[in-house]
Amino acid sequence: MKPLLLQKYIFSILSICVLYGCGSISKPEVHKDQKVLDLLDQLTLEQKVGQMTQITLGKIHENGQLNTKDLRYAILEKNVGSIINVNGTPLALEEWHELLTNIQDIALNETQLKIPILYGIDAIHGTSYTKNSTLFPHNIGMAATRNQELVSKGAKTTAMEVRASGIRWNFDPTLGIGRQPLWSRFEETYGEDVYLTSLMGGAAVNAYEEDGLKSPTAVASCMKHFLGYSTPLSGKDRTPAYIPDVQLREYYLPPFEAAVANGTSTVMINSGEVNGVPVHASSYYLQDILRDELGFEGLAVSDWEDIIRLHIRHKVAATPKEAVKIAVNAGVDMSMVPLDYSFYDYLVELVNEGEVSEERIDEAVYRILKLKFDLGLFDNAYPEKEAVANFGKPEYAELALNAALESITLLKNKDNILPLTKKSKVLLVGPGAHNIGALHGSWSYTWQGDNEAAYNENTQTLKDALEAKIGEKQVITNAVSNYMAASNTSTSFVKNNANRADVILLAIGEKSYAESPGGIDDLTLDPNQIALVESAVATGKPVVLLLAQGRPRIISSIEPKVNGILNLYRPGCEGAKATMEILFGDYNPNGRLPYTYPKNTGDVILYDRKNSENFKESEPDTYGLGGFSPQWPFGHGLSYTTFSYGDLKLDKTTLSGNEQLNVSITVNNTGDRDGQVAVELYVCDLFASITPNEKRLKKFKKVEIKKGGSAQVDFQLAKSDLSFINQNSKRVTEEGEFKLMIGDQKENFFYKN
Ligand code: BGC
Repeated sequence: MKPLLLQKYIFSILSICVLYGCGSISKPEVHKDQKVLDLLDQLTLEQKVGQMTQITLGKIHENGQLNTKDLRYAILEKNVGSIINVNGTPLALEEWHELLTNIQDIALNETQLKIPILYGIDAIHGTSYTKNSTLFPHNIGMAATRNQELVSKGAKTTAMEVRASGIRWNFDPTLGIGRQPLWSRFEETYGEDVYLTSLMGGAAVNAYEEDGLKSPTAVASCMKHFLGYSTPLSGKDRTPAYIPDVQLREYYLPPFEAAVANGTSTVMINSGEVNGVPVHASSYYLQDILRDELGFEGLAVSDWEDIIRLHIRHKVAATPKEAVKIAVNAGVDMSMVPLDYSFYDYLVELVNEGEVSEERIDEAVYRILKLKFDLGLFDNAYPEKEAVANFGKPEYAELALNAALESITLLKNKDNILPLTKKSKVLLVGPGAHNIGALHGSWSYTWQGDNEAAYNENTQTLKDALEAKIGEKQVITNAVSNYMAASNTSTSFVKNNANRADVILLAIGEKSYAESPGGIDDLTLDPNQIALVESAVATGKPVVLLLAQGRPRIISSIEPKVNGILNLYRPGCEGAKATMEILFGDYNPNGRLPYTYPKNTGDVILYDRKNSENFKESEPDTYGLGGFSPQWPFGHGLSYTTFSYGDLKLDKTTLSGNEQLNVSITVNNTGDRDGQVAVELYVCDLFASITPNEKRLKKFKKVEIKKGGSAQVDFQLAKSDLSFINQNSKRVTEEGEFKLMIGDQKENFFYKN
């Protein structure tokens, strides 16, 4: 292990101990790096504040050209230390190199201290802003794979392609958990479960940084958005969340703990407010939790314009200047300004007036300079030749294909309508049938992912991939690429052409969107798409739905009437091909839902619900079960084969203290195809001082089993797997009886201190 990583590792173990109450270990003294301190010593106040200032490329880039006058002003007059983003369209590798070279030239040749610029980008599911890069399924699909290794490999590929572009800081992974399906950034989450999110998010962080930040195969990761961003009460992006401390620590904090434990270098702050306090203004979240509890030492960057928004949007600061004072004092190290220099001007004034201390400025700038040193920017700030060789390798496409294959989830397969035979004549209709954006979603070559022209030339739509699979003659379609075109939901086309087809494929769901513009008022699928499905059903032909969507849109009115449903999520650049592999049986699906798919908009109850949510009082005083009635539960996902579970074996009936409980189960492939299955272990605490959850995912393992074969799957459980946050906000494991569940098998055991 590299010394830096070892240090990070030890540090994270210690911070976990602090969090989990390992006893009397005090926070280790963090040794400051002398070369960073020496440089810091030479900076004027203005230069320090400039390092804390981050602008967007759009401010210094016009009509596809770098405006060197504006760039010089930013770097020479305002001492700007960091730049982010693209200006509208993706750049080719060479264009990135030219841009970054021009930027670093000014920073290195025209300033006295020669401090390189730190460039950051949102490579959320692949290198989103470089032409011809590889885009993987969004996190929501990666979570459905239940395959951590795929997440690692995907993140490693992204690190290599980002670095090859000349960029060394990636604003990823997103670690908010998806417990509010209306939220427009749901697709960026790993779904509703905290364990799954922590594991997948931790794997991504590790893959980004494990080679050491100087390596041409690494980038600095950015855990975001700290903390509680993903659950706005209304479902609308950047609106208030209300999260009691117990829940915050039970569900929202652990993914960030995992990211810190895996060595993330930076954090981005939640744009929203939690319990009435904007997180950018909260020293409770930014100091007490992030620094003191998690022991995080890295750089904290604001989100877009979020400091000034403390004044203009959140109204906790009476003036823009007060907003700067509040945020910097609360613990924000760098401001994603990103469009004006008021942050810079106010902060210089505030320090001169004694409203922000120089120590606070030094703490922030130390972190920024340290990251620049760690990333090797002082050795060579320019795009690295060794990194370029890692761009666009053929195996990346294969990896993206595997990720899509393992993510796509077979939700329904009535009378084994799927797989289809390649001789079938297929009627393909729907807004997603010939649209690339719907298969990619947000952060795909453009922010909204909805510019079809920005995608790689060879990217297939579902129509393209279907025609490639079974031949054009077998396909009847009127699909056009404009998602919103009326013809894509033409019921008369379906009615008039169904008689020529054996099966109707409907590509429906959601167009591409990102962040607030993706807000919706109704989770129900759009009425014109519902009508399209109804028209297909009315023809009497078998109907299969392909759902390309970022969040679970309600389809309960049509679900009973259709024969097959595949959930594609946002499957990325190989998504169309993967869909056809599955539809025609060249691949046996094994994705599992990473969220509870609701049946009704007013009935969003998650799988790890409380017992009281199981009940329903249909008539006064008659309680029955039925309170939890989703369209499909978390973990649902069918295969073209069938699996059965043998007896669950536990090596003891009572787990004591720090012992380990060994669990094993035999899984049999009882169908007539080879297949993979993600075996999931859930635990329920029967009685506890905080109302226990019905079940919690604690372990999973994906195994491949030949037809007629079987596999033994082993798991180990420890006391910490049975823990929860109690009324005093402390993580505890209480003595008592627990139920362990795998598939349809259940066994109880006891825990004793
Ligand atoms: C998003 C962040 C992103 C930033 C920079 C913001 O609007 O919330 O996730 O990193 O923009 O593009």
